[in-house]
Amino acid sequence: MFWNERIERLPRDEMARLQSERLKGIVRYAYERVPFYRRRFDEAGVHPDQIKSIEDIERLPFMTKSDLRENYPWGLCAVEPSEIVRLHASSGTTGKPTPTFYTRRDMENWAECMARNLYTAGVRRTDVCQIAFRYSLFTGAFGHHLGAERIGAMVIPTSSGQTERQIMMMQDFGTTVLHCTPSYAIVVAEKVQEMGIPRESLSLRLGIHGAEPMSEELRKEVEEKLGITALRDYGLTELGGPGVSIECPEKAGFHINEDYFYPEVIDPETLKPLPLGEVGELVFTTLTREAVPIIRFRTRDITYLEAAECGCGRTLIRHGPILGRTDDMLIVSGVNFFPSQLESVLLSFKEVEPHYLIRLTKRDRRDHVSAQVETRPDFWREAPEEKKEELCRRIEAKVKDLIGFRMEVEVVEPYSIPRSEGKSKRVIDERSRDA
Ligand code: ADP
Ligand code: ZN
Repeated sequence: MFWNERIERLPRDEMARLQSERLKGIVRYAYERVPFYRRRFDEAGVHPDQIKSIEDIERLPFMTKSDLRENYPWGLCAVEPSEIVRLHASSGTTGKPTPTFYTRRDMENWAECMARNLYTAGVRRTDVCQIAFRYSLFTGAFGHHLGAERIGAMVIPTSSGQTERQIMMMQDFGTTVLHCTPSYAIVVAEKVQEMGIPRESLSLRLGIHGAEPMSEELRKEVEEKLGITALRDYGLTELGGPGVSIECPEKAGFHINEDYFYPEVIDPETLKPLPLGEVGELVFTTLTREAVPIIRFRTRDITYLEAAECGCGRTLIRHGPILGRTDDMLIVSGVNFFPSQLESVLLSFKEVEPHYLIRLTKRDRRDHVSAQVETRPDFWREAPEEKKEELCRRIEAKVKDLIGFRMEVEVVEPYSIPRSEGKSKRVIDERSRDA
């Protein structure tokens, strides 16, 4: 049932003791070895001697992605380059790629966190794990690879893309677990249908999907189309990649490896920590990382924390689904929303496929939102024009009702919207260009 039962079921007060010990260590380590932290802590008037327990974390200053960018390339590194055994970097969705480094011990901890995560999701040594995250500078594929290998499962490192070949491998080698982004899971599912592969010829039972949001509606699509249980995992390059948290089969939030990553949720405006259950920005402190210790990093990811014991018996604290990122929140005609909310509305229509493109533009200085959505191929083929029109009007009404602005909807031909093998971008904001 558990990969490390002692830690996964540790009573909350014992976890706090362990975190306190580790926090004291990492704060002193960062202060002594990284000039950036020494400067920041001095400016904030806090010294490692004052950090005595995990609650004292609130005295420490926050850091953001721009601190990492300004210290590019080596600035936050706490060890000699000769100690580093691996470099990865983010996709840099929002600028220059952010690198992160690993010592031998960091690699060891990463494998341990990922093994614990995958085990939590249900991966066992008898599984055949196909890693269809892209093997590249990104962390995703390597993290999943390490974890599955440590469990003793059989790893097939297909990387993403070449979908027909992926499916052939699944059939021929009896893949049971598919690891990829939610977007790519949909591409695989679609291809299985298109190739007319009978579901029984696949041994697939579990999907583990991360790196981008997956709404409940999208999860359902993946589960139904592939006939699997789909679970989500979470991580970010700055913390070393995936291995931070994962859903267990209860689907009741993401269990955090809080002996390695200490979570807080703050109000992004006032920067005050929020009580459990309140929605705000997720902040993490790495409690063990050697190469690049990270203290109170503002992830920009929006969610809440939940500490009640889970149905699976784990006491590890959980975070809720990532509702969006502070930097992808959109404001249209004064209404704030996240793209994932629009996805939920769109996919609540059974005629609609999880392929859509939303465009925000300015018309006569006013926000204008339009959406192209694909429908199921049979609906597209068989439904008369009025039915398609009627579907558009129903979607428009629901968006207006649930989110609060007008969005012009058009249904388009199946397969006409580009597919993504990694993270996909489904909302395009062209407003500043037209202004
Ligand atoms: P970037 O996308 O900025 O280049 P990363 O590749 O490190 O950076 O991706 C990390 C980010 O991906 C997280 O901060 C989060 O926004 C997103 N992410 C990762 N896993 C999930 C998930 N399960 N649900 C939603 N978002 C996720
Ligand atoms: Zn659980």
